[in-house]
Amino acid sequence: VLKARSLAKAFGSNVVLRDIDIDIQRGQVVALIGPSGSGKTTVLRSLNGLEIPDAGTVTFGSGDSSAELAIDFGAKVGKKEVAALRDRSAMVFQHYNLFPHMTVLKNIIEGPVQVQKRPRSEAIAEAERLLERVGLADKRDAYPFELSGGQQQRVGIVRALALKPQLLLFDEPTSALDPELVGDVLGVIKELAEEGWTMVIVTHELAFAQHVADEVIFMDGGVVVERGPAAEVLRAPRQERTKLFVKRLQ
Ligand code: ATP
Repeated sequence: VLKARSLAKAFGSNVVLRDIDIDIQRGQVVALIGPSGSGKTTVLRSLNGLEIPDAGTVTFGSGDSSAELAIDFGAKVGKKEVAALRDRSAMVFQHYNLFPHMTVLKNIIEGPVQVQKRPRSEAIAEAERLLERVGLADKRDAYPFELSGGQQQRVGIVRALALKPQLLLFDEPTSALDPELVGDVLGVIKELAEEGWTMVIVTHELAFAQHVADEVIFMDGGVVVERGPAAEVLRAPRQERTKLFVKRLQ
């Protein structure tokens, strides 16, 4: 689905990403792990155009060449290209980022109706189906402040799914939640993985990563230190830095 090559990004003199390569196959779940400040969130945001890298390329496609989108960040990147990139994926944020003045339903249908120009009745039916699925059918007309963090995050996930993206991006989706609410949200993400969604998940939940991820990428200091099947990277890491990180959290 996606191929990123040599992504680089600096904020002023702070070099945040150096030479990052990522490949994501259809139906694959990739977990991005690493210490705070290692650049995980910046990678995720770069994959969907919320952040524009200084250099590198992102190619999106289903294998069928007419569907390819290739962006070279080293050249001048236009608004249209960024919009095309953003269209392909949907992000679930750490702090949910729901619109506080809109009901749950309105939050979910906003993108499909306003941006994707889909018929409102169709968007509503889809939103209701998805809410049912995550056990929140009765919260359709509630406002975000009336929901627990776990419920808000499930709405955040439904909002992403409603866009029917090729790729789902999760940025530490459970790190703002009280411990007792984490399980529900991880459960929903696990179901999506089993259904075959293509996903990249930035997470500190290593046990969860081991459970759902096909591939784990360990980043430190803006570079990929180690990558491979979840069991290998988390259970039998080869690099010293990965060993230290994995040991500390288990
Ligand atoms: P965490 O686990 O704490 O979220 P992370 O691995 O996701 O960390 P990033 O959020 O990608 O790391 O941040 C990497 C570095 O980039 C940090 O040093 C951060 O301060 C810096 N950074 C991120 N966004 C910006 C920005 N918009 N402006 C300036 N510096 C930024």
